[in-house]
Amino acid sequence: MSDSLYDVMIIGGGPAGLSAAQYASRAKMKVLVIDKSATAGALAFASLIENYPGLEKPLTGKELLAIFRRQATEFGAEYAEAQVIGVSLQGEVKEIFTMDKTYQGKTVIIATGSMGRKATIKGEADFLGRGVSYCAICDAAFYRGKTVCVLGDSEEAVKEAGLLTRFAEIVYLISPSQRLKVDDDYPTLSIGNLKTILGHTVTSIEGGELVETIRLKDISGKESTLELSGVFVYLHGSKPVIDYLQGIVEVSEDECVVTNRMMETSIPGVFSAGDVTCTEVRQVVVAASAGCIAALSAEKYVFHRKRRKLDWHG
Ligand SMILES: Cc1cc2nc3c(=O)[nH]c(=O)nc-3n(C[C@H](O)[C@H](O)[C@H](O)COP(=O)(O)OP(=O)(O)OC[C@H]3O[C@@H](n4cnc5c(N)ncnc54)[C@H](O)[C@@H]3O)c2cc1C
Repeated sequence: MSDSLYDVMIIGGGPAGLSAAQYASRAKMKVLVIDKSATAGALAFASLIENYPGLEKPLTGKELLAIFRRQATEFGAEYAEAQVIGVSLQGEVKEIFTMDKTYQGKTVIIATGSMGRKATIKGEADFLGRGVSYCAICDAAFYRGKTVCVLGDSEEAVKEAGLLTRFAEIVYLISPSQRLKVDDDYPTLSIGNLKTILGHTVTSIEGGELVETIRLKDISGKESTLELSGVFVYLHGSKPVIDYLQGIVEVSEDECVVTNRMMETSIPGVFSAGDVTCTEVRQVVVAASAGCIAALSAEKYVFHRKRRKLDWHG
């Protein structure tokens, strides 16, 4: 193989991709990160991160991401801002296609996150990170004593509403359907500060700097408004970003990339990490840890090692 090949090509520059880049470049491999935009991933939308271990004070998602990026590039990883539109992964030399360029390498790490659900409510995209959230476990603590709503009828939506009742003063669970997809005696539904509104859709999310109001419509078309500070959207769940893979890598029914515990996918030399995989927990610390594992697995693949080299200093 030619020396100009990358050892590791990483698609996605979020915490998963950049942790992988840091570990892979520190292991003296030739590493490329291709990222669509530093502001397109989940972390870039997080207004405040206070639960990433080691942080002495909360940082915005963008600030934390900038630290991840700096660490990776200081260890030698190259960073290219471009959208990946296709891949060729089956051969010994893997190829990644962007509009302007084709990149070639020995291994690929897929780390494109799970921001694939398109915002469908007016104002949803505008207020993401400023009152709109897709993650109660991440953001509940910011809504202590406030009024929030959860949009959805799934068990996940009901559970997340239950979690929010421990922080917010009032939690509205607003379902577009007339029935929730849980039994009537589901324990969460009897929590005192949870109020269920069935058969209503939210038509817009409005406010100034932060969310202040939502507009609702019932099935007869009657409109109303609710004043609140947070809107947690659980309508269709988030969707892993896999469009550019064109079915080459095995994904689950939920369209997340299937990996084993060493982050290996169905294709030799192709690894995956972070929210794009079938992880149960979507958090920065989990994505970063999976990125580390993917990088060490890639290193083992490149150097044909029988065992993974532990990343002890030196
Ligand atoms: C509003 C919000 C608040 C959150 N708050 C917290 C919190 O407080 N604590 C916490 O631990 N977690 C929080 N999370 C979750 C956390 O941000 C994610 O779990 C984490 O960012 C996942 O990392 P990732 O690298 O897998 O994906 P992402 O961070 O989504 O990064 C994916 C990257 O892939 C790139 N990409 C996508 N498609 C392409 C393509 N075709 N070509 C090239 N690049 C591409 C994107 O540009 C992006 O940079 C929050 C999430 C959101 C949305």
